[in-house]
Amino acid sequence: MANKLVIGNWKMNGSRKSNAELLSKILAPLERLESVDVAICPPFIYLEQLANLVVQSSIQLGAQDLNQAEHGAFTGEISGAMLRDFGCHYVLVGHSERRSLYGEGNDLVATKFQAALRSGLTPVLCVGETLEQRRKGVTLEVVNKQLQAVLDLLGVNQLGGGVLAYEPVWAIGTGETATPEQAQEVHRHIRQYIAENNSEVARTTRILYGGSVKGDNAAELFAQPDIDGGLVGGASLDVHSFLSICKAGQPRHT
Ligand code: PEP
Repeated sequence: MANKLVIGNWKMNGSRKSNAELLSKILAPLERLESVDVAICPPFIYLEQLANLVVQSSIQLGAQDLNQAEHGAFTGEISGAMLRDFGCHYVLVGHSERRSLYGEGNDLVATKFQAALRSGLTPVLCVGETLEQRRKGVTLEVVNKQLQAVLDLLGVNQLGGGVLAYEPVWAIGTGETATPEQAQEVHRHIRQYIAENNSEVARTTRILYGGSVKGDNAAELFAQPDIDGGLVGGASLDVHSFLSICKAGQPRHT
């Protein structure tokens, strides 16, 4: 069994001072945890600062987005190669805020996934339904389409080169968390959907849950058989909450 993976997505938050303070409080306690993988995705501009702060630790670095091109006249954009240059291991693709606020559709997200792999990064493909879609009962269809775009472009083996994150849009930043049963239902479905293409890839691909994960709900979510960790927004900015979530990712001793 792979370690659980907890990724903190800082979104557009932080400052050089607050980043240094946060890291000074979480680094030592995180190093004492066993068998849980932890990564942080700060805003691009703080990647170098974070790379220096985590250099002696096991925390890995991720970015929140990338451009699908390798280089060129794309003002304001950042390529996968640049992220590698700054020591990134992961990159989020298709976060719901990118999809809803910046119009990123499934095809573009698939090309970003491809660009990440091409650069030697591990893409974290975010999928999930809106509240309206859940109420209409089309959650699984929406998630299928989001996965299928990557499968169509790259095939199942390359999909397995990434991490998946099921993030119901109605649970992101709202304080409303999917119940462990609701999350597990979709996670199981995602694994089965991949298994229709390749059962080994389905078994080994980590599927994270994201959407108001907190210190007091992480353990129950992570105990579900198809939940392999968490993608954590707001709570990753709080020392106590983030440490509790990472702690919940440790294997349970019976
Ligand atoms: C996210 O940004 O991916 C996220 C899940 O945010 P939050 O934990 O704040 O809901």
